[in-house]
Amino acid sequence: MTSRPKKSLGQHFLTDRNILGAVADAAHVGPDDVVVEIGPGRGALTSVLAERAARVIAVELDAALAAELRETMPANVDIVEADARAINPATLLEARVPYKLVGNLPYYAALPILRAFLESDHRPTHAAILVQLEVARQLCAEPGGMSLAALGVQLFGAPRIVRRVPPGAFNPPPKVTSAVVGITVFDSPAAGVTDIEGFFTVARAGFSTRRKQLRNALANGLAIDAGAAGAMLTQAGIDSKCRAQSLSVAEWARLAEAT
Ligand code: SAM
Repeated sequence: MTSRPKKSLGQHFLTDRNILGAVADAAHVGPDDVVVEIGPGRGALTSVLAERAARVIAVELDAALAAELRETMPANVDIVEADARAINPATLLEARVPYKLVGNLPYYAALPILRAFLESDHRPTHAAILVQLEVARQLCAEPGGMSLAALGVQLFGAPRIVRRVPPGAFNPPPKVTSAVVGITVFDSPAAGVTDIEGFFTVARAGFSTRRKQLRNALANGLAIDAGAAGAMLTQAGIDSKCRAQSLSVAEWARLAEAT
C-alpha cells in the first residue's frame, strides 16, 4: 500500500515527465553511468534514471518507501535505507567508481546532503538537483551576493540553473517555485585549495557577523585581534572594508592561505 506523503521528510513527488527527463539531462546521464540518487520517494525519477544508466544506487530515509521500492524497481537499482546527510559516498560505491549525483532533494536537508557529497573525498563528476528556486539562486550567486552555501558548492564545481519548476509539477505541490541546478564538478577544488577545512574555517569566520566589515568579522570569528585580521587581508590583497558577500572563491582561498 502506498503511504501518505510525509511533510516532515519534504515529500513532494514529481509527476511531470518532462521535468523528470530534464533532471536526468542536467546530470548528462548516459548508458555507462553509475548514478547515486538521493530521496527516490516513490521512484518516478529512479525509473527514468534506471532506463538511462547502467546502475542506480538510491538512498532513501523513509523505511516504508525503501521497502516499496525494493519490490518495484528494476534489477539495476539498489535501494539503501539511510540518511543522506550523514553518508560517506565511498561506502556506497565499491572502489572509487565515478558516479553522478541526482536528486529531487528534500528541502529541509538539501544543503547538508549536497555538502556530504561535495566535501567528501569521493565526489560525483556531475550533479543535478531539484531545490527551491531561492536556494538555487543562492548556490549560483556571484561576488556581491555570495554566502557560505554558494562557497560550499563553487569551491567544488560550477553550478547553473537549468530550468524553473512550478509547484504544479509535484504532488503535493510545494508552496514555492523550484529549480533544477546542474553542477559540473571540478577534478580538484577551485583556486588550488588543498586544505578544505582551513578554507571553511576562514570563510565561516568571515560570514559570522554579516553586517561587520571583513576585518572585524575575521577578528571575531577567528578570535584574533583586529590588527592581525587586517594583516591577513593585506597579505591576501583584499580591501579590509570589504564584506564577506563580496569575495570570490579565489579571494577566500588567498585569505585562508594568509593565516
Ligand atoms: N525523488 C522523488 C520524486 O521526485 O518524486 C521524491 C522526492 S521528495 C522531494 C524527497 C525524498 O527524499 C522523499 O522520498 C523523502 O522521504 C526523502 N528524504 C528526506 N530526507 C532524507 C534524508 N535525510 N536522506 C535521504 N532521503 C531523504
